[in-house]
Amino acid sequence: MTRPPVTLYLAAPRGFCAGVDRAIKIVEMALERWGAPVYVRHEIVHNKFVVDGLRDKGAVFVEELSDCPDDRPVIFSAHGVPKSVPKAAEARQMVFVDATCPLVSKVHIEAQRHAENGLQMIMIGHAGHPETVGTMGQLPEGEVLLVETPQDVATVAVRDPERLAYVTQTTLSVDDTADVVAALKARFPRIVGPHKEDICYATTNRQEAVKAMAPKCDAMLVVGAPNSSNSKRLVEVGARAGCDYAQLVQRAGDIDWRALDGITSIGITAGASAPEVLIDEVIAAFEARFDVTRELVETAVENVEFKVPRVLRVPA
Ligand code: SF4
Repeated sequence: MTRPPVTLYLAAPRGFCAGVDRAIKIVEMALERWGAPVYVRHEIVHNKFVVDGLRDKGAVFVEELSDCPDDRPVIFSAHGVPKSVPKAAEARQMVFVDATCPLVSKVHIEAQRHAENGLQMIMIGHAGHPETVGTMGQLPEGEVLLVETPQDVATVAVRDPERLAYVTQTTLSVDDTADVVAALKARFPRIVGPHKEDICYATTNRQEAVKAMAPKCDAMLVVGAPNSSNSKRLVEVGARAGCDYAQLVQRAGDIDWRALDGITSIGITAGASAPEVLIDEVIAAFEARFDVTRELVETAVENVEFKVPRVLRVPA
């Protein structure tokens, strides 16, 4: 039986970023160094496949530090933690390793610097996302105001409109964030902020690749987890860039083949926390049903790498 032809456009860059790679390495190295169990506060990165793999090696995932015993090492996830968390770990004399992505830590430092300069902070981010909670938690409760949309900007109540600064979550939509920043600058012309926003290179590059790919595709699949902010943004960016059917799938088993009936071109990308093995699985599922031609849509080449914390680099 002849299989129908399909072109698979493969976005590059896609999948793992340097911060995710480092965070996973930290858990693996901690397990080697201290043996199991090693506790991890929150999913180290938002991907079930990655978390299940580390759990099999002896990592124990918990939501709060209070769920960890005093005498086992604990790792803080790549999304960052409020200041109160390492402080509590220190008070309990726990061994802890902070896997916060250095690009998130940079935003933490920015927020603190602005606050030290007497500016009230506004954060552009998604309410309840661990990164937002972690960044807002760098300052005392109530000090950072959260806005998600231009509508929020219209109603946010500030202490002094002349003394404000903003930071952003690193995994937002570049275009949506530009709208929120524009609204902030229109309402508070003296607000201080980063050059553009704090969205990281990996988020920006993956969105750019999707924008380049979307107009060529009848449909687009984003491999990623439903709680992964940057993956969800890729779906939105794809739909907005002209792809009629853009869907998030955790792995090949989630593909709705009926919805793809009759398509001849499909774009594939992956969020920053999705391992390449899951993308390979999706490609293999297409190859089992279609006569596949692969085409790379490459908009950037990444060579970013972050070192693991010193405690894991020095010999035990
Ligand atoms: S998505 Fe960006 S901020 Fe988040 S871990 Fe990756 S590099 Fe760091």
